[in-house]
Amino acid sequence: MGVSRRDFLKGSGAAAVGLALSDKPASATDKIPGLRTKGSTTTTSVCPYCAVGCGMLVQSRNGKVINIEGDPEHPINQGSLCSKGSALFQVANNERRLTKVQYRAPGSTKWEEKSWDWTMKRIAMLMKESRDRNFVKTEKIDGKEYTVNRNEGMAMIGAAALDNEECYLLGKFARAMGVGYLEHQARI
Ligand code: SF4
Repeated sequence: MGVSRRDFLKGSGAAAVGLALSDKPASATDKIPGLRTKGSTTTTSVCPYCAVGCGMLVQSRNGKVINIEGDPEHPINQGSLCSKGSALFQVANNERRLTKVQYRAPGSTKWEEKSWDWTMKRIAMLMKESRDRNFVKTEKIDGKEYTVNRNEGMAMIGAAALDNEECYLLGKFARAMGVGYLEHQARI
């Protein structure tokens, strides 16, 4: 059955009167679902991607990150995040994320799971071997010998997410190893 314009106006008028006379007016919040972050723990953090260093609020429940958003009280970003920072949640919760060290021996086609203890020792051993093999103590320029203490077999690179103190320590460490090829991600 069709509804005429007159019937429609009559019906809406009756509904409006019904609403006005009802003792429980509809509330604007009746249909709003509960916050998904309700009952979670909020921790402040800093985006690890670039040197802007945007502040973030990380909400977690039972040790699991359930939401990440910009921190409105942070002086740098005041709540905003770029597309990379906004997608950081997918780094914390991603079934494809590796959480254990994977090692493939020279010539092997298989990956093996290794402990961090094993891995750190192996990295340290290889760095020492490489430094000793490539260390240049002196260099002759125009017939005169200069002490250079240069490690020509190694380069180091810092990432933009490193803070001042980490950059300072990495710089000191690189120079202690004789590394001259010291660069930064943002300059490449
Ligand atoms: S949110 Fe974007 S701009 Fe801010 S620190 Fe992260 S990557 Fe840099």
